[in-house]
Amino acid sequence: MDKWERDLEPEEYEILRNKGTEPPFSGEYVNHHEDGIYRCKACGNPLFSSKDKFDSKSGWPSFHSPENQQAMILEDDYSLGMHRVEVLCKKCHSHLGHIFDDGPKPTGKRYCINSIALNFKKTEEK
Ligand SMILES: [Zn+2]
Repeated sequence: MDKWERDLEPEEYEILRNKGTEPPFSGEYVNHHEDGIYRCKACGNPLFSSKDKFDSKSGWPSFHSPENQQAMILEDDYSLGMHRVEVLCKKCHSHLGHIFDDGPKPTGKRYCINSIALNFKKTEEK
């Protein structure tokens, strides 16, 4: 058993460390509209802002831009007999989801991210 297997719930481990995918429309952040920052579930790295989230109807939380491009890395993924681009947390190398080219303006990108890979922190009211 590695460190991640001890620290994460089994379904979190399956996605973050084994590159699994949660079933569509199952995640807690699919229809989540509060203002705040989505962080890596495994290490707390800030990844996406609620202002860049959009409703893609795909069943997964979707963002057209990252909060911080430096916080993540993109890698070619040839699993399942197709070419996709995988999104990983740069800090802990956890699997977050995939990026597609069918997103809205301004970037045309769709970061399709598993809810389970994220931990939302609400913006504090002033
Ligand atoms: Zn991380």
